[in-house]
Amino acid sequence: GKLAQADVRQRLYCSKTPSSQPCPGNRAFYFQCPWGAHNATSMSCSLADVMSEQLAKELQLEEENAAFPEVVAVAEGPFITGENIDTSSDLMLAQMLQMEFDREYDAQLRREEKKINGDSKVSISFENYRKVHPYDSDSSEDEVDWQDTRHDPYRADKPTTTPRKGFIGKGKDITTKHDEVVCGRKNTARMENFAPEFQVGDGIGMDLKLSNQVFNALKQHAYSEERRSARLHEKKEHSTAEKAVDPKTRLLMYKMVNSGMLETITGCVSTGKESVVFHAYGGNATEDKVIPPECAIKVFKTTLNEFKNRDKYIKDDYRFKDRFSKLNPRKIIRMWAEKEMHNLTRMQNAGIPCPQVVILKKHVLVMSFIGQDQVPAPKLKDVTLHSEDMKKAYYQVLNMMQQLYKECNLVHADLSEYNMLWHDGKVWLIDVSQSVEPTHPHGLEFLFRDCRNVAQFFQKAGVAEALNERELFNAVSGLNITADNEVDFQAEIEALEKMNEDHVQNHGKKLSVFSGDGDPPIYNE
Ligand code: ADP
Ligand code: MG
Repeated sequence: GKLAQADVRQRLYCSKTPSSQPCPGNRAFYFQCPWGAHNATSMSCSLADVMSEQLAKELQLEEENAAFPEVVAVAEGPFITGENIDTSSDLMLAQMLQMEFDREYDAQLRREEKKINGDSKVSISFENYRKVHPYDSDSSEDEVDWQDTRHDPYRADKPTTTPRKGFIGKGKDITTKHDEVVCGRKNTARMENFAPEFQVGDGIGMDLKLSNQVFNALKQHAYSEERRSARLHEKKEHSTAEKAVDPKTRLLMYKMVNSGMLETITGCVSTGKESVVFHAYGGNATEDKVIPPECAIKVFKTTLNEFKNRDKYIKDDYRFKDRFSKLNPRKIIRMWAEKEMHNLTRMQNAGIPCPQVVILKKHVLVMSFIGQDQVPAPKLKDVTLHSEDMKKAYYQVLNMMQQLYKECNLVHADLSEYNMLWHDGKVWLIDVSQSVEPTHPHGLEFLFRDCRNVAQFFQKAGVAEALNERELFNAVSGLNITADNEVDFQAEIEALEKMNEDHVQNHGKKLSVFSGDGDPPIYNE
């Protein structure tokens, strides 16, 4: 761990002083990317495995590379293998250094671009070679310029080596306090004065020279880090839950706390295959938003493998059709979050009990928390209800399914006792990222599956009034499929879907029955 960390710093250091310093630990010279290349670890598996894994990894890294080149590779690389070593602040540090490096690189590029183009009317753009692109510069949106701050909480108590007069030496050997090297060393030494829990690693022992800009960035980070930890409960649970998400996501979540939108993030409520859900206490209201006292933060997992089998939900959803083909996998994951937001909003508008959307940031969706005092409401499968309540729950679910279909023009598509919560004496629907409109090529099949889950659950729970899955399907959809057995019923559903698809093929999707929300689905014709 320690060695690896030192190695990171040395690489960073080498990359920042390419001409003046020899590179002690590494013979290779890293200019393009200060992280250099990974040592490929040899694995004993088939070529096909390596290829597909590699492909998945490449796809995943593609977008991140635009913002923090190689940083994610580092997170997955050899530096984090020591499980008991908290490298999170090192990673942040590395990210900031990387950004600094990228900015310098771009500045140099701009100079070269200018030199080449001169006054020429036709110019060559270097835009594509830039490391920092306008759309990912949002990470600096809430940066504070510390140079202008009078009171500096991290100023060294004892004045450092440069004497009061501001210079030492004589003649041309004079060194002022503005000397880059002296200043850099001083900055490094001042890192020791950051809050004790802020880990700066073992770089202080080395002859590190941090530029003012980097130092200020670190200081800013250390400060917000301290503020954050003062606000967040220092719970074990919290820190382990935190590690369930990648550094960029963590940064996103920290920003929500630092902006005051959230008061504290208390811990993880659920870790699923496709998402991690956190509990948070709401913070201050903004001009246009009231934040609920308790919030749920749903982080859609950015590991691609989990989402592979969900393609069919979104790929065939005409609402996303035009966008799907152009997107990389990471953007598709954001689309899941976006979909959940839209679907929740529709449900909210129809008055169906469900979480209220607070905000969506990339693949992180904040909504109201169903439950109380950090305890999420129990799932219907876990709650023991009196028969009266169970009957009430059944009729409510039947009602909600109809509303969802008719008023929201949606099919839940993952409805079961796992995605219904019992809270405040009623059933709440959650987990609607995969919900589709009934005219989705598989919409009716999804609905039938939902009906089967619901019918079976309530029948087992002893609700005598509960319709069977076929009756329920007809009651929800308003269709009148008469088949009296499952196989035929399923076949009729698929025939209807096929008919609908042909209709779309022939008439195009701009047909009025397909356009707005709330239009009756074509099956009602
Ligand atoms: P997944 O796709 O991982 O199943 P869910 O949306 O179902 O995601 O969330 C997983 C779990 O997190 C739920 O079963 C529930 O216990 C909890 N949860 C999700 N959203 C909320 C919420 N708004 N309020 C309270 N608990 C929630
Ligand atoms: Mg779920």
